[in-house]
Amino acid sequence: MRVDIITIFPEMFEGPFGHSIIKRAIDSGIIEIHTHNLRDWSTDKRKRVDDYPYAGKGGMLMTPQPIADCIDELKSEREYDEVFYTSPDGELLDQPTLNKYIKYNNIIILCGHYKGVDERIREHYITKEFSIGDYVLSGGEIAAMVLVDGLTRIIPGAIGDEMSALSDSFQDGMVAPPAYTRPRVFKGWEVPEILLSGHEKKIDEWKLEQAEKRTLERRPGMMGE
Ligand code: SAH
Repeated sequence: MRVDIITIFPEMFEGPFGHSIIKRAIDSGIIEIHTHNLRDWSTDKRKRVDDYPYAGKGGMLMTPQPIADCIDELKSEREYDEVFYTSPDGELLDQPTLNKYIKYNNIIILCGHYKGVDERIREHYITKEFSIGDYVLSGGEIAAMVLVDGLTRIIPGAIGDEMSALSDSFQDGMVAPPAYTRPRVFKGWEVPEILLSGHEKKIDEWKLEQAEKRTLERRPGMMGE
């Protein structure tokens, strides 16, 4: 998958994309990430990308020209499956939605700033708006990182043990069951006996039971009833 990120802060991505699963996915060519500094497309002599809103009460808006030119240029080079915009009023990102997006080959993510972008960009250039939660961030970069991180780890080959992405929370409509590692007794607290029993079938049943219990407690809407 190729991801083109349009941002006024390309440096913000260096840290999050320079480690762990994303770094390995980039190094092995599973995902290709290109950040584009929006200012490079500004025709303004001071490279401005924001301006006062019409009839606005404070706060700037991102101007349409640099965004449109940047997206036009990218689109002239290849076809895109989706042009995303990070927006608090967009579709809430969840696991089933992420699972749908892994079929994409090329995507653009536009990161908003200030009070957001001129509505005409949203109308004519953006094909999908997404939000990472019902709260307001200062910019779209962290939301873009969330989308890319969530997508990368489910692309086949990104995680060594393929099973491990599938056994994460939400993948089967439930949250994950409790998990334990060594030592068997820590500060007097023991690992549940069943996990040490070697009884594969019983262990699977226990995990399912625990996952169901936890889902009902923490995400009651998720299991239908
Ligand atoms: N005036 C806007 C908020 C602007 S916040 C409004 O009331 O909706 C600045 C930018 O941060 C937004 O344009 C968006 O790109 C990004 N952003 C803020 N909160 C976000 C969220 N929950 N999910 C995704 N992007 C968000």
